[in-house]
Amino acid sequence: MTTIAAEKNSTLPDLETRLYLNGQWVDAEGAKRFPVENPATGEIIAHVADGSVADAERAIEAAGNAQADWAKIPPRERSEILRRAYELIIERTDELAAIMTAEMGKPLAEARGEVAYGAEFFRWFSEEAVRISGDYSTTGDGKNRILVTRVPVGPCVLVTPWNFPLAMGTRKIGPAIAAGCTMVFKPASQTPLTSLALVQILHEAGLPSGVLNVVTTSSSSKVVGSWMSSGIARKVSFTGSTEVGKILLTQAAENVMRSSMELGGNAPFIVCADADIDRAVEGAMLAKLRNMGEACTAANRFLVHRSVADEFTEKLAARMAALTVGDGSLAGTDIGPMVDAAGRDKVQELVDDAVALGARVVVGGDCPDGPGYFYNPTVLADVSAESLLMSNEIFGPVAPVIPFDDEDDAIRIANDTQWGLVGYLFTQDIDRALRLGDELEVGMVGLNSGLVSNPAAPFGGVKQSGLGREGGRVGIDEFLEHKYLSIPRR
Ligand code: ADP
Repeated sequence: MTTIAAEKNSTLPDLETRLYLNGQWVDAEGAKRFPVENPATGEIIAHVADGSVADAERAIEAAGNAQADWAKIPPRERSEILRRAYELIIERTDELAAIMTAEMGKPLAEARGEVAYGAEFFRWFSEEAVRISGDYSTTGDGKNRILVTRVPVGPCVLVTPWNFPLAMGTRKIGPAIAAGCTMVFKPASQTPLTSLALVQILHEAGLPSGVLNVVTTSSSSKVVGSWMSSGIARKVSFTGSTEVGKILLTQAAENVMRSSMELGGNAPFIVCADADIDRAVEGAMLAKLRNMGEACTAANRFLVHRSVADEFTEKLAARMAALTVGDGSLAGTDIGPMVDAAGRDKVQELVDDAVALGARVVVGGDCPDGPGYFYNPTVLADVSAESLLMSNEIFGPVAPVIPFDDEDDAIRIANDTQWGLVGYLFTQDIDRALRLGDELEVGMVGLNSGLVSNPAAPFGGVKQSGLGREGGRVGIDEFLEHKYLSIPRR
């Protein structure tokens, strides 16, 4: 165990920093470790076990060995493990939030919000675990009975990103437990501590040995690659960049593994001429600044009808200018740092490119001085369609405003991207809302709303934003196979 030097925040707990294999906390091969940094200060807050390929092999073997017995555990028992883990997460909200803020940077209030959101996946899937149903019918010629049951897919590879360190884990682990799948889990190397605290909770909640095995590592491709080629894993569930998702899909093809992919986004945020502008600005603050803009659901392109573009831009800029940028563990901080120097530098490059192509900086456009990887909330007006930020995920607190003249134009620009995760639409006209909602090539639409994520709803995208859905009634389907028994009638 390691204790974070808790100068500013006395609620930081003792932290587990080892691997979790077959129900035991163990050191990595050669006792190797890698550092975890606080992006608000640049300080190293912990050294976490640096899992090797040999450690990864032990993990997938444990998951393979545990699968058959785990699949036989009654659904109610699986449900109650999830329910207990849900209660423990809620009890430990402050501890988990403090860990998350320290390793990832989001303000404490947002980290607490993520704890509530992340925990809810466990509560939701504890309820789904006991509602897995099959089907019974007769063949057309009346000669056979068709009995369809639903069985766990088998051992799953789970790989998560750093931006929602708790919720991206619970969103995959919850349905896998509910369905009766075992798992190997690799959290992002920037944010392993929250995941390890989550695993500790599942251990306390009574998850049997081998069901969940966690390898933290600085060698992501080798560790995950060994799982993908193991022949033991039957499914991969990944959240992260489209680039890495494509690598995993190629690897999944080798062993014909089921694949769920939550990849990048390039969300359009459309404000029609008839929109309630104050409500649109409120929605924009949420859709743009939740998680400092480091979300695949973040509004990336603000398409605003020319007749209301100035009003929207000025009001949004005024709200953004009033925000406090700082260390997320300090009271009063609205916007924490970017996760690392590379993340911050990419945001600056995208802004510089837009400005070079004629964009006007209404507010922000630069980084504050001092340690940490901060970026000032930024509004850009008159952004050219050629700008790189039109075709790249910004992953930072930058709102480019692009005026449009007619709806067809707005939809054309909105759909002119390889991605299709979410779109936001602000209008008070119901016909227009339904028409544009139909035309947007996305998996989710926020109608007069800047937030779509909810454990009870199917989250996911079309085009290169991914495959499959997480959450909602369909979330568990990703972890189940249909199995059909043909029974002659006599
Ligand atoms: P982000 O840009 O959000 O960091 P990535 O796709 O790079 O997104 O990372 C998401 C997750 O995928 C992380 O856990 C990361 O360590 C892991 N990862 C990165 N590269 C690979 C790879 N080649 N194979 C498997 N996992 C990877």
